[in-house]
Amino acid sequence: MEGLNLTKVVISDCNEYNLELLTQKLNAGIAMLGGWERYFSPGMTVLLKVNLIGPKAPDTAAITHPEFVRALVRILKGLGCGVWIGDSSGGAIAGIAPTARSFKVSGLEQVAREEGAVIKNFDREGVVEVTPKSGLGGKMFIAKPMFDADAVINLPKLKTHSAGIYTGAVKNLFGCIPGLRKAEYHRLAPDLRDMGEVLTDIHQAVNVGLHIMDGVTAMEGEGPTAGAVYPAGKLLMSTDPLALDTVAVAMLGLGVEEVPILHSARTRKLGESRLKNIIIAGDYTSPPRLKGFKLPKGLKRGRPRNYKVVIRVIDLLKTRPRVNLRVCQHCNMCVESCPVQAIDRESKVIDYTDCIECMCCHELCEHKAVELRRDNRILDFFRRVGRRA
Ligand code: SF4
Ligand code: SF4
Repeated sequence: MEGLNLTKVVISDCNEYNLELLTQKLNAGIAMLGGWERYFSPGMTVLLKVNLIGPKAPDTAAITHPEFVRALVRILKGLGCGVWIGDSSGGAIAGIAPTARSFKVSGLEQVAREEGAVIKNFDREGVVEVTPKSGLGGKMFIAKPMFDADAVINLPKLKTHSAGIYTGAVKNLFGCIPGLRKAEYHRLAPDLRDMGEVLTDIHQAVNVGLHIMDGVTAMEGEGPTAGAVYPAGKLLMSTDPLALDTVAVAMLGLGVEEVPILHSARTRKLGESRLKNIIIAGDYTSPPRLKGFKLPKGLKRGRPRNYKVVIRVIDLLKTRPRVNLRVCQHCNMCVESCPVQAIDRESKVIDYTDCIECMCCHELCEHKAVELRRDNRILDFFRRVGRRA
């Protein structure tokens, strides 16, 4: 990997999941980063680390699209490489992570079968123990294929995140923590900045050479699973995950400093986060704004610090998860995935004194039954006062 330009991000227009178009755009984009041969040679095994957050169909924009993955498998096979497709989904039902079902529902299992790639369900492949540089948690267990493969390509999806604002290249490696161990990290790092430390730890423990974002369709609003599809029509490519995310959030109208899960990546210098130091190549020379793109409604921009009263008022108004029982299918995915067991199994009522607001319940509910609502305690207070008057 010597001689890489760590600050280049290629942005390509790509408006549909058409195999020929995807192949052409990927080849042209990687040529600007030195060409495929710079990274891969015949006989290598390349792991494609997809975003397979749960059992979601490709048209939901919640997962890395299977046709995008198919294009990459064909390119890599053409180079003489063996290809693995791997991830671990979030959550659990009856104590079992849904990764196997996710590979089926997403269409990725079919792509692997048709193209001669191998599925690596990270929940079943063993782990490698590493010592996180942040010191959080003492030990970290990362899916073994991340180390067994000769090279890894990170394939994030361009999406919002109701808790973390944005999820992209840095966040996508959280799926390298197998199965239910993910919940332990939510418990360990309830603060988004601490979660960012965990993500930086993962990136520093593994060796990912390329990051290619699927932004042909993106997710806006209440991502990463319950948002709406936004036709962004973009592919982003870089050797630097932080530079890629910096450019992606600029496309959404955000500054990288507004995304708390990227704070650690910036301070620990995982990559480049100053736009002026990033060379934009491909179809653009600066990040194109995605017009009308909706950010999560709970996003509080420019939140003041050290103003305790203001923060208290904001806290009283903050968005919290609630189960809509008219939509709920009682699968108990949220109950079993909650890292602090804050959701009652029968009533689905959330105990907010325990809730750490990780939003996993919102993220993992396949039926969009966990809604994010502004807490109306202030309104309730004034109503009560009004009634007494
Ligand atoms: S809220 Fe969603 S995840 Fe929780 S039990 Fe209902 S359907 Fe399942
Ligand atoms: S109730 Fe939901 S948001 Fe709260 S801790 Fe549990 S999973 Fe996280």
